[in-house]
Amino acid sequence: MSNYNAPVRDMQFVMRELAGLDEVMQLPGNEEVSADLVDAILEEADKFASGVLAPLNWVGDQEGAKWKDGEVATAPGWKDAYKQFSESGWSALACDPDYGGQGLPKLLSTAVMEMWKSANMAFSLCPMLTTGAIEALMLRGTDAQKDMYLPKMISGEWTGTMNLTEPQAGSDLAAVRTKAEPQGDGTYKIFGQKIFITYGEHDLTDNIIHLVLARLPDAPEGVKGISLFVVPKYLVNADGSLGARNDVHCVSIEHKLGIHASPTAVLAFGDRGGAIGTLVGEPNRGLEYMFIMMNEARFAVGMEGLALAERAYQHALQYAKDRIQGTDAGVRGGPKVNILHHADVRRLPPPCRRSRAGAEPGLRRSDDSGRQGLVHRELDRRHLGRRAGPRRHGLHRGDRRGAALP
Ligand SMILES: Cc1cc2nc3c(=O)[nH]c(=O)nc-3n(C[C@H](O)[C@H](O)[C@H](O)COP(=O)(O)OP(=O)(O)OC[C@H]3O[C@@H](n4cnc5c(N)ncnc54)[C@H](O)[C@@H]3O)c2cc1C
Repeated sequence: MSNYNAPVRDMQFVMRELAGLDEVMQLPGNEEVSADLVDAILEEADKFASGVLAPLNWVGDQEGAKWKDGEVATAPGWKDAYKQFSESGWSALACDPDYGGQGLPKLLSTAVMEMWKSANMAFSLCPMLTTGAIEALMLRGTDAQKDMYLPKMISGEWTGTMNLTEPQAGSDLAAVRTKAEPQGDGTYKIFGQKIFITYGEHDLTDNIIHLVLARLPDAPEGVKGISLFVVPKYLVNADGSLGARNDVHCVSIEHKLGIHASPTAVLAFGDRGGAIGTLVGEPNRGLEYMFIMMNEARFAVGMEGLALAERAYQHALQYAKDRIQGTDAGVRGGPKVNILHHADVRRLPPPCRRSRAGAEPGLRRSDDSGRQGLVHRELDRRHLGRRAGPRRHGLHRGDRRGAALP
């Protein structure tokens, strides 16, 4: 049974009245986007979030992801949920139609992302990291890298990761030591260890595409000497099929206070001869490129705060409705009432909820969600500016959009 329901009405209000959905729908490339379509997608996302993801949150927390002999088994139910997630087209929502995405506005995909995060934070981290890797490859990958990786990452068939952190290099990425040795054939051998890699290993998909920071020989010291490489778990043949197992292996996963079902992996690159990778963009500009992923992650982590506050609010509201305590103010000997009757309790809802559309009577709106919405609108402007031009595969968003409406 689910104990989360997406605040669809609030989201519709914020998108329309505060964030300028009408304006976003007028942007070039959004001709097929209508208010009805947006509503239908929000409703379907609510069904998936409340019906599939939210019930798995508890089992995910209790069972967690399990490491054994280099493999990671996700929590019970995870594989099936992920299969439904990708088959329903959710991973492709705001991605580029040239590579199989649905090209829907970020304003919409952000509201949908909030639902995944409220319903099941640990699950949501997998598509979150994949989205960032897609964005980085989209902006800085070569055509060959884009053709090889993007369609399967966008469809959800493969996932993506972000590999910055090393034991001695956390906040201070100037200390990154992972090495990349050119092989003379356009590939590089990667040697080093990365820690804290979200969904660095799992059993949800056949392949995992790692974006990895490493240093070329003779690279300058510090952050100006870091390059970005794409290193798949399985090498990919020219026809797109999976090739040999690459030399990147999961040594362990972290024991964390929360998000037990999100595997946070220690990855060893090159312990058995070198992990094969290819360079993304220009040498020594890796950190700059990685900021594409990091900024996606920062934005998504901001949404996590909102999403968790929403879930907590829903729990608190239910408790306040169930808990009988005291009588109404000024009514001596009267019937016992739930604590929602008490003025002191009613003034407690968190700021995130006050910023919503006022679904609960008596709650005040602020413009926080409106500001969040303006950020989304600006992102849509930038994304659509980039997307101008013919679609390479002749795919129209309508061709795939139906997939988001199972
Ligand atoms: C759940 C989880 C998932 C993660 N997923 C990924 C992932 O997918 N990919 C990845 O590459 N990394 C990931 N990380 C790693 C994360 O990016 C690092 O934890 C982060 O960069 C901080 O590094 P650190 O933990 O070594 O802390 P440190 O760098 O050791 O910092 C410790 C404390 O000191 C403070 N501090 C450090 N330097 C300064 C300074 N100059 N001025 C002021 N304060 C400072 C920090 O703010 C922090 O509070 C993940 C971490 C967690 C916990």
